[in-house]
Amino acid sequence: MIREIVIFGDPVLRKKGALIDEVTDELRELVQDMLETMREADGIGLAAPQIGVGKQLAVVDVSHDPECFSYLRVDGVATPLEDIMPLVFMNPELEYGGEPDVMSEGCLSFPDIRGDVTRPYEVTAKLDLLDGRSIVIETDGLLARVIQHETDHLNGVLFTERMSTATRFSLRGKIKRMQRDFGIK
Ligand code: ZN
Repeated sequence: MIREIVIFGDPVLRKKGALIDEVTDELRELVQDMLETMREADGIGLAAPQIGVGKQLAVVDVSHDPECFSYLRVDGVATPLEDIMPLVFMNPELEYGGEPDVMSEGCLSFPDIRGDVTRPYEVTAKLDLLDGRSIVIETDGLLARVIQHETDHLNGVLFTERMSTATRFSLRGKIKRMQRDFGIK
């Protein structure tokens, strides 16, 4: 089922999601809804708070761009992208690496807004999976960026907070108009 995506201004986007310690049928259904919702919106990532659910759960799919990273290791072993896509993860813990990297980002909770965001180029992510495993993913490039963006959502952090003051300032009017269009004060 396609869920409604929460737009910037809703307080749920500012809250830290609750850790998940049990995978129930209800949670699996939620994951299916999130995957459908992400695909319908042409997104490459979606976090549970973005559909109003305050849990540490996110989905990522960058399979449209198999060359968006230079390495991908799962538990230390080089792994093909298709083996882990779509990536559904819970309770992420990240370690950052590499140089700061600037890339234009969007966010499904900010329709039609894009801006440059600086993030570390590499990430080591400890993630819980639905099948009960905990894995460590090491990667870089766009995949590392999306994992960081979605993990931020689970901590109540939005991409605008990762932008330079100048970028944020330049988007102010556009964001106000977006909120007005969606009926958000
Ligand atoms: Zn987002």
